[in-house]
Amino acid sequence: VINLAGVSKSFGATKVLKEINLDVRSGEVLVLIGASGSGKSTVLRIMAGLETADSGEVWVNEVPLHDERRAKEIRGHVGMVFQQFNLFPHKTALGNVTLALIKARKMSPADAKKRAMETLDRVGLAERAEHYPSQLSGGQQQRVAIARALAVEPGIMFFDEATSALDPELVGEVTEVMRGLARDGMTMVVVTHEMGFARKTGDRVVFMDKGVIAEQGVPEHIFGNPQNERTRQFLHRVL
Ligand code: ATP
Ligand code: MG
Repeated sequence: VINLAGVSKSFGATKVLKEINLDVRSGEVLVLIGASGSGKSTVLRIMAGLETADSGEVWVNEVPLHDERRAKEIRGHVGMVFQQFNLFPHKTALGNVTLALIKARKMSPADAKKRAMETLDRVGLAERAEHYPSQLSGGQQQRVAIARALAVEPGIMFFDEATSALDPELVGEVTEVMRGLARDGMTMVVVTHEMGFARKTGDRVVFMDKGVIAEQGVPEHIFGNPQNERTRQFLHRVL
């Protein structure tokens, strides 16, 4: 469903992506790992249509994202979850999800509310629907953010360090929701420092180093038998 061919990107004089070739298949969980500044978020943002490549081709669901006009179409059909939850503080959990549906899907408030409740139930938060973000734990807030992204029924979900801002004891409830999505066949691209998630839930792990894909493969290969010296050094640091 996603194809990157020869994608390069610079910020000012710095080339942050160098001729990236990467395909994501339908239903696949692709995990991006690598050191800070290696280009993981930039790849994700280009796939999600939030950033444009300087050169190369990007296709998402057969839509060419290098065509700026069409890139907008895709933004409405993918879900994004970031490190920061970015919930509206003056709206309840239900209100946050409902608003996204009314805005992005032009649903009637009644239909939106019904769908929002179903989605909150899916992330285990039906009981907390009327709570405000300040009344929820970080893990619960992030699950609301996931529900908000999921409610519009995206074809692809992108996660950029969705658990990095959470206290360690709250990480599990969020990765558990992500694991559930993976089991349900969602196509997912996940940037994470959670090597346990990469290993257990990733179908494929891509190791990025200084703007290139240094190595990729199934988790057993990347974690059990990495071929690239830089992959070994990185894993040695983080594991
Ligand atoms: P991290 O693990 O710290 O999130 P990352 O692998 O996600 O890192 P990117 O955010 O993709 O890395 O950044 C790659 C490089 O591009 C970094 O050197 C970063 O400083 C630079 N960069 C990213 N976004 C911008 C921007 N909007 N303007 C200028 N430079 C940027
Ligand atoms: Mg990043």
